[in-house]
Amino acid sequence: MSTLITNIAELVTNSPEHAARGAAGSAGFGALSDAALVIEDAYVAWCGPASKAPAADRVVDAGGRAVLPGFVDSHSHLVFAGERSAEFADRMASRPYRPGGIAATVAATRGASDAQLRAGVRRLAAEMLRQGTTTFECKSGYGLTVADERRSVRLAAEVTDEVTFLGAHVVPPECGGDIDAYLALVCGEMLTACAPYARWVDVFCERGAFDADQARTVLAAGRDAGLIPRVHACQLGPGPGVQVAVEVGAASADHCTYLSSADVAALASSGTVATLLPGAEFCTRQPYPDARRLLGAGVVVALASDCNPGSSFTSSMAFCIALAVREMRMTTQEAVWAATVGGARALRRTDVGHLARGARADLILFDAPSHAYLAYRPGVPQVA
Ligand SMILES: [Zn+2]
Repeated sequence: MSTLITNIAELVTNSPEHAARGAAGSAGFGALSDAALVIEDAYVAWCGPASKAPAADRVVDAGGRAVLPGFVDSHSHLVFAGERSAEFADRMASRPYRPGGIAATVAATRGASDAQLRAGVRRLAAEMLRQGTTTFECKSGYGLTVADERRSVRLAAEVTDEVTFLGAHVVPPECGGDIDAYLALVCGEMLTACAPYARWVDVFCERGAFDADQARTVLAAGRDAGLIPRVHACQLGPGPGVQVAVEVGAASADHCTYLSSADVAALASSGTVATLLPGAEFCTRQPYPDARRLLGAGVVVALASDCNPGSSFTSSMAFCIALAVREMRMTTQEAVWAATVGGARALRRTDVGHLARGARADLILFDAPSHAYLAYRPGVPQVA
């Protein structure tokens, strides 16, 4: 069974051969106008000018809409119970964000039934899909006991292949600040229980959470268990997170809001993606990361939602793109690339984020003629 989608005003393929000539700074963004695309067995079999489209079993008329690769959201925390809207409202009134707010979500998550947690994860996963996200990563990190972390990664694995063990999110209150004892648990029994459900290991390397050596310990243990490192780095202030991420060959350093010149240089000369999460800065009213500095240095940049109940309760990649364009001065092309190919790079995936021949046919039929409408019409649902 083959399907031809034709009459596409703008087909965002992200293929280098479709990149506009002289479009400096637009990374690998590529698009075709007046285009068509053929899907066979859930993969892209052909794309090119509509006038040259081959025959297919079924034809879909895109009606002059744009078609984009589905968004790849490489950073989310969907397994939780409860909500923190009052904290958000207080913060908007004056109070700054601190990692301690996580404790409220941990308590609610531990108190929830499997069915309640599963319903929450599925609701958010469905919400993502409705908004055009076809691949997403999901972390644990609100359980912080062996049983609760195992339950979190198990439920995450029901909705995505990209599951991350984040036992090293914060030290839970019952440890009374005994970080070493908690780390031993994370790197021992908890990791053993969670690794079968996870692909990635993550650590919150930040003042008030885990320092460089503690982060190294967590990531090394995770790697020994077959997991690939990624790091929460430099969100709340300057710190060693990016250096640790690059040093261990992490797939991604996430947040990157407070970077030194050495951090930028380290990212530029590494295979570690800088994943920017502007929803967090929006929801905490912190300064946005300097995307232009990273792009100027040649760093691979991804955009992700950081969807979580405390510091970024949005699942909308379109919103993140609009923030990246308006607040971080990324071009519309750069932002869309970062939300698709960039996310795929951060997850070390080559089958998603683009629509060249052989890619998964995960795509968005977009109810507008151009990708630019993602930022041009902020807040408007446009996934057809
Ligand atoms: Zn996060």
